[in-house]
Amino acid sequence: MNQLNEYKNMWVYIETEGGKPKSVGYELLSAARPLADRKCCELVAVVIGHQVESVAAEAVGYGADRVLLIDAPEFASYTTDAFANALVALVEKYRPETLMIGATNNGRDLAPRVAARIKTGLTADCTEIGIDEETGNMAWTRPTFGGNLMAVIMCPDHRPQMGTVRPGVFRKGAFDASRRGEIVREDFRVFPDEIRTKLIERVQEVADAVNLEEAEIIVAGGRGVGSADNFRLIHELAEVLGAKVGCSRAVVDAGWLSHIHQVGQSGKTVTPRLYVAVGISGAIQHLAGIAGAEKVLAVNKDPEAPIFSVADVGIVGDLNEVVPALITAFRKRTNPAKP
Ligand SMILES: Cc1cc2nc3c(=O)[nH]c(=O)nc-3n(C[C@H](O)[C@H](O)[C@H](O)COP(=O)(O)OP(=O)(O)OC[C@H]3O[C@@H](n4cnc5c(N)ncnc54)[C@H](O)[C@@H]3O)c2cc1C
Repeated sequence: MNQLNEYKNMWVYIETEGGKPKSVGYELLSAARPLADRKCCELVAVVIGHQVESVAAEAVGYGADRVLLIDAPEFASYTTDAFANALVALVEKYRPETLMIGATNNGRDLAPRVAARIKTGLTADCTEIGIDEETGNMAWTRPTFGGNLMAVIMCPDHRPQMGTVRPGVFRKGAFDASRRGEIVREDFRVFPDEIRTKLIERVQEVADAVNLEEAEIIVAGGRGVGSADNFRLIHELAEVLGAKVGCSRAVVDAGWLSHIHQVGQSGKTVTPRLYVAVGISGAIQHLAGIAGAEKVLAVNKDPEAPIFSVADVGIVGDLNEVVPALITAFRKRTNPAKP
């Protein structure tokens, strides 16, 4: 057990890619700000990358009191060794009480590595973060038993208390240009022979095209769509609405779309203004990913489908008839000249 009272302040790791921040870092700053106020502690952003000074300044506007900045060429792209070494060094130097990391692909790689190195616990994929009234410990909430139960997990004996949160679970607060904070440059370096992996190629098109977490409108198809071929209906409706295409896990399992399209507990958590669910039954694991959607439109031939319990608008019918009708109707609205 480590000396708990030596640990103070709440940290949020701000992931960057190509010098740009991932939105989840700012979402976490917004979620952590009131918690840091309640604990009367500093909210510290940690920015590691190359040419990321502007990100450090921006983190202050999103709520950080202080930013720890490591900026060097060996951090230009993510490697487990370089980033874990850097974050562990910062934790050992400053001893934060809490450390939050976005559950992106890289965050999911980094967080457990750091937790193991500093011998503390990690609660992955939290959907809520609070403070336990009685003990003052962080109370991390996450789904368990296939999403049927929400577990509140605490880490009473070790510090820092670590948790990861998926992109889109919290909303990014407003940027406040008038906020002032301190930016502390840390001159931590990693020798090339400490980095055991090398980035050979970056394949970007696919991931960028399916940035579901930041999509305003999503049209998602389920097993009811029937085949990979029939997914052209979903793509067409998405195109008319200027939407991204999502899907249920059944679709990924059938090999009709890749996992980057999957919405739900083991896929993406999304917060669009409109979520169109076509031929999706509405299993609890799927609904876990769309709780933050502002409006849900569901199309299903089964009037008892659970998706209708969360839908703002429900259409009971065969998607092979309903979706073409929707495409025609929306096309008329967006381009009245076309038939
Ligand atoms: C640990 C765990 C994690 C999971 N994670 C996820 C996850 O992240 N995301 C996820 O989606 N699932 C997840 N699942 C799986 C989940 O339990 C369901 O199996 C899955 O969501 C079902 O997908 P579906 O709704 O497409 O298929 P189904 O449940 O088979 O539903 C198909 C629907 O299509 C309708 N339909 C059929 N034909 C038509 C038609 N012609 N017109 C209109 N409607 C039609 C049917 O009425 C039915 O409601 C997870 C499960 C577990 C155990």
